[in-house]
Amino acid sequence: MSGSTIIPWVVGNWKMNPQQSTAIQLVQQFKDLLKQQPISEQHCHIGVAPISIALTRIQSELASANRAVATVAQDVSRFAGTGAYTGEVSADLLTDSQIQYVLIGHSERRELLGDQVEILKQKMTHALQAGMTVIYCVGESLEQREQGQAEQVVLQQICDIASVVSAEQWQSQIVIAYEPIWAIGTGRTASPEDAQAIHAKIREGLCQITPAGAQIALLYGGSVKPENAVELAACADINGALVGGASLNAESFYQIAQAFAQTQQ
Ligand code: PEP
Repeated sequence: MSGSTIIPWVVGNWKMNPQQSTAIQLVQQFKDLLKQQPISEQHCHIGVAPISIALTRIQSELASANRAVATVAQDVSRFAGTGAYTGEVSADLLTDSQIQYVLIGHSERRELLGDQVEILKQKMTHALQAGMTVIYCVGESLEQREQGQAEQVVLQQICDIASVVSAEQWQSQIVIAYEPIWAIGTGRTASPEDAQAIHAKIREGLCQITPAGAQIALLYGGSVKPENAVELAACADINGALVGGASLNAESFYQIAQAFAQTQQ
């Protein structure tokens, strides 16, 4: 038991994977595991983030699970509403399809797809205005870590969006995911001690920004797998995981969710 009153979140980021038939099979296997050994919603929130064209299909597959499993968008447009923005999907259109959760600021979008601070602020503003819960991702590069800048970088990334988040939104619509870039998809995980140390700093920083700081879920991401989930889940300020590769295997994803749920029992 971690003693935390924050219900953990375990979210699978499928990235640009997999093909539709595999995705449906994956959801079915995950639902079967939940049926064999249920994980209470009071012990762990669970979500999966499929590619955008699969969001509503996966959501309807998940509707028959024996508990709520959120469908999470991997991205959102920086434009609101509807209009002449070819290729974009706004927060309003996501919520129109009952998609209430979104990832913003993933390092792959920051590094490969041009999501600069101003764009992230626009995305954040519209997602929050549409009532979505945002999983905001932060994390330092290997170079920044080696230069001793990890803490400064992640705190700056949080400050970057602070001007567009109200006190009520911090309280009810924000989850933070700390994902050191050097640990994403590399098999290298931050040690539980290193991850906890940064999470504690993030917690401190959040408490300076908002009275809700102590209650915001802080997820760790970066090569989380069943083998390291129990140790990570035991850390006081790690309230869940954002899982890439291991979320493409139903059994692994289930075991990670179970590891976090067990901290609440
Ligand atoms: C991610 O992309 O958010 C992630 C953490 O990936 P992985 O678990 O594969 O490192």
